[in-house]
Amino acid sequence: MDRFLYETHSHSREASACARWTIHESLMCHKEFGYAGLILTNHFYYGNTSVYKGLSWHDWVTAFCEPYNEGLETAEKNGIQLFFGWEACYEGTEFLIYGLDEQWLLSHPEIRDASIEEQFGLVHEGGGLIIHPHPFREEWYIPEIRLFPEYIDGVECYNATHCCPKSLHHHGPEFDVQAREYAKKYDFVMTAGSDSHHLPMLGGGMVFDRKLSDIHDFISAVRNRECVEFRDGSDGADRFE
Ligand SMILES: [Zn+2]
Ligand SMILES: [Zn+2]
Repeated sequence: MDRFLYETHSHSREASACARWTIHESLMCHKEFGYAGLILTNHFYYGNTSVYKGLSWHDWVTAFCEPYNEGLETAEKNGIQLFFGWEACYEGTEFLIYGLDEQWLLSHPEIRDASIEEQFGLVHEGGGLIIHPHPFREEWYIPEIRLFPEYIDGVECYNATHCCPKSLHHHGPEFDVQAREYAKKYDFVMTAGSDSHHLPMLGGGMVFDRKLSDIHDFISAVRNRECVEFRDGSDGADRFE
């Protein structure tokens, strides 16, 4: 069986203040590790963005999307896929948004200040998917655990930052046990990712038995529960063969 590993949750320093690697470095590290593809999910406007907020919406979106646009060439040259997403932040509660692009952002400035309920409507009207990552992570920057089962499509149930022995932050495999209980209770689709910001590689992600064509194909694969293996890096994150 062919096996294609996809990173679904990753940051780069051009747009995330907490990330250390550039999109180019990240792509090369992921390629080396054995990933078929990477979804770039930098921290959005009210999250830990490194894009200056004094810019107009147009310029902010352009700068926010720049690492993705710049990474496409590196990705293509090196035989790894690069897809676009973002991680929205509501006072510590975060959401991974997949399936919407730069053009959509430019034409929907209202997404910036949308409530969690409005975000759900806007993202769905655009055909996007909303995943609640690390819903039970306990950390200084998250004032309280808040769940919004009515406004999400699925739950990130495996987060390698929590589970990989090499992880330098947020260690706590029990956070993911709770996430899976939550997902089961509501029959949510599940995702897995590393939430990677820099080396070392944590080895999280989703394995599919086929190459995904684009971010919309990723969404349908998630919705159809096609993932054949959820990886959380707990095996020590050695190279994926
Ligand atoms: Zn971060
Ligand atoms: Zn993240």
